[in-house]
Amino acid sequence: MQDMTTDDWRQLDAAHHMAPFTDYRELRAAGSRIITHADWHYIYDSDGNRILDAMAGLWCVNVGYGRKELVDAASSQMAALPYYNNFFKTSNQPVIALSKRLADLTPDGLNNVFYANSGSEANDTIIRMVRHFWALEGKPQKQTIIGRTYGYHGSTIMSASMGGMTAMHEQAATAPDFVHIKPPYGFLYQGNLSTADFAALAASWLEDKINEVGADHIAAFIAEPIQGAGGVIVPPEGYLNHVEAICRKYDILFIVDEVITGFGRTGQWFASQTFGLSPDMMTLAKGLTSGYVPMSAVMIGDRVATRLIDDGGEFYHGFTYSGHPVAAAVALANLDLIARDGLVEKIRDDTGPYLAAALEPLAAHPLVGEVRSFGLLAAIELVKDKAGPVLFDPVGEIGVICRDHAINQGLMVRAVRDAMIMSPPLSFEPSDIDHMVTILAAALDRTLEDITKR
Ligand SMILES: *Cc1c(COP(=O)(O)O)cnc(C)c1O
Repeated sequence: MQDMTTDDWRQLDAAHHMAPFTDYRELRAAGSRIITHADWHYIYDSDGNRILDAMAGLWCVNVGYGRKELVDAASSQMAALPYYNNFFKTSNQPVIALSKRLADLTPDGLNNVFYANSGSEANDTIIRMVRHFWALEGKPQKQTIIGRTYGYHGSTIMSASMGGMTAMHEQAATAPDFVHIKPPYGFLYQGNLSTADFAALAASWLEDKINEVGADHIAAFIAEPIQGAGGVIVPPEGYLNHVEAICRKYDILFIVDEVITGFGRTGQWFASQTFGLSPDMMTLAKGLTSGYVPMSAVMIGDRVATRLIDDGGEFYHGFTYSGHPVAAAVALANLDLIARDGLVEKIRDDTGPYLAAALEPLAAHPLVGEVRSFGLLAAIELVKDKAGPVLFDPVGEIGVICRDHAINQGLMVRAVRDAMIMSPPLSFEPSDIDHMVTILAAALDRTLEDITKR
């Protein structure tokens, strides 16, 4: 293995590895980038490139790479108890401690936790729980779940059906009883409306859908407080409070998917606290362990939990690795680090505002239609013409060109449609942000040159 070249690795990868969300023919032609190691905010590839990771892996490596505390937590837990199941009236100490910790950290009323390994599984769990809940309430016809276009809740058939990614639906992810409404995507839909009017309008799309389907058929509405994979869509102020009130009015469970927004990214431990929400259930994953090992969790509010506990009988659901002791130990060490390093306050008071101010000047670039950020989430929308704005046609080509320029200059970002997306580690320093913005500006310039040359 030592004398293998990057090309050897690429060829082997292409020969046997079908990677997620990948166009296989395209990847085989281009070859993958082989990531060999990572340290703090940088990843390194087998060609010796050092790349600033403005995506925190995939929205998850919140405390940065190489944190010894997490390595040690995993290692001692593996030595003490690497695995035991929680199925048959057994439990383990890390998972008990983590459950108490999550109940304390999350908003009031979320006091119970169900564990899984991925955000997708957590959301599948929620789907089963809410439908079971309504059956126990004597309303088994309340089955339909409302999601949103561009919403992302995972890649299992159920979680992808609940999400609003059309391309995923078209590949066998169309389970029954899921409907979708338009997202509060100001860049596309706000026009000349005031923030308050747009918040009310976007919330009215939920009420319209409820009236169309009938509240007595609707189990729940699920929303990411800030839509991540859909393009870092930041809702207008008030929108989330409106949709929560609409859910209460029609007795529909209100579920927040905080897989990205949880654990400090918005400047509070959870976006529900940032936006003043009291959800019935909450999805957690990614940042729960900073991605060092897989773990996800469903926070279950008292209304649903009480019903399941008192009248539910056995809940026929769970995964071999639900409440895995090593994952729980890493999650606990991760939460300790976030607290010890003051990352939540740092984003609220320091790096969140700093990021917004640092990105602001890019709005003047001829390619940029909108710059938006919230806490440590950001998006830069690229447009053909700022007036309008006029989008590129087809959508998605220019975004990839700009993303590739950024990566080639040492910055890992993602493109969603024609937006550049950022979700850096929560430990990002102002100097990292400056470095990121310098490369973004250069990538925008090069993209503009490419377009002009065409
Ligand atoms: C990533 C993500 C998921 C899915 O998590 P997986 O661990 O990839 O299954 C669900 N919801 C949101 C908001 C996500 O960003």
